[in-house]
Amino acid sequence: MARIGFIGVGNMGGPMARNLMKAQHTVTAFDPLDTALAAIVEAGAVQATSAAAAVEGADAVVTMVPAGPHVREIYLGAGGIIAAAAPETLLMDCSTIDVTTARNVAGAAAERGLDMVDAPVSGGTGGAIAGTLTFMVGGSEAAFAKARPILEHMGARIVHCGPAGNGQAAKVCNNMMLAINMLGVVEGFTLADNLGLDRQVLFDVVANSSGQSWAVSSYCPVPGPVPASPANNGFQPGFTADMMVKDLRLARDAAMKSGTGTPMGALAEALMALHVSAGNGPRDFSSIIETIRAGG
Ligand code: NAD
Repeated sequence: MARIGFIGVGNMGGPMARNLMKAQHTVTAFDPLDTALAAIVEAGAVQATSAAAAVEGADAVVTMVPAGPHVREIYLGAGGIIAAAAPETLLMDCSTIDVTTARNVAGAAAERGLDMVDAPVSGGTGGAIAGTLTFMVGGSEAAFAKARPILEHMGARIVHCGPAGNGQAAKVCNNMMLAINMLGVVEGFTLADNLGLDRQVLFDVVANSSGQSWAVSSYCPVPGPVPASPANNGFQPGFTADMMVKDLRLARDAAMKSGTGTPMGALAEALMALHVSAGNGPRDFSSIIETIRAGG
């Protein structure tokens, strides 16, 4: 079994590291947040005092931190992972970040002869706990072959998306589509309320019709039809509106750099940002239904 350095053990990284330990891997963890680090040490991880210390003697490293600047600092900064890692160490960044940073960091790793993949996930905290995440992996065939058996302990679907950065490309496309889909579902249920149409009836029709999407059938933004959706729980996340705005900004950045018109993505970003500016950032992103209702 492998010795794995795990950096960033928050809402996602914590349960992912637990699943690696369940599979008999040895995990050495670092997180600047004392409560996050203490929780994973309590679950059996070895405590490290810095990212570089977590990497020492590791066969593989997983990072799961908030955003691109954190990834740049952890990998490229003074005392960073790329300088600290031994030549055979496999590097896996599972954070959701911009494509350009993912490619730059992978390039810096390659200059030192280190294999690296970007491997962002979909499936949320529920998927992280259950070990059923989907990993979208960018990197060489050789790096993917090394990463796959480790990622399989944390996920149910491991998809090779192409060279470095393509995992992040798949992730931003997916989340932009999700935000656009959710706004469509939210408008449909708001209109139904105003037309006197029962929500359950609309759900039963749409879940089996051409309006169907994951946003309606698994994550319905009104209470009732899908008991596990955040709408039944005061919109506790789930996936926060803050995170969705971050991902829509990543999609916009990627669209601008590639010269792609994404007007629906831009509108979804503007509406989500408005929702966040009203204090809804920490709530589930499907709570956008309240802002759409209020705007009617
Ligand atoms: P989180 O804030 O709960 O966890 C991030 C952790 O990283 C925190 O514990 C933080 O202290 C730590 N961290 C910050 N800077 C660090 C540093 N320099 N060194 C080491 N650790 C550092 O966030 P999360 O929900 O676990 O999300 C992590 C990533 O996963 C994000 O990129 C997010 O977009 C992505 N993601 C989240 C979800 C979700 O549902 N929460 C779903 C898919 C993808």
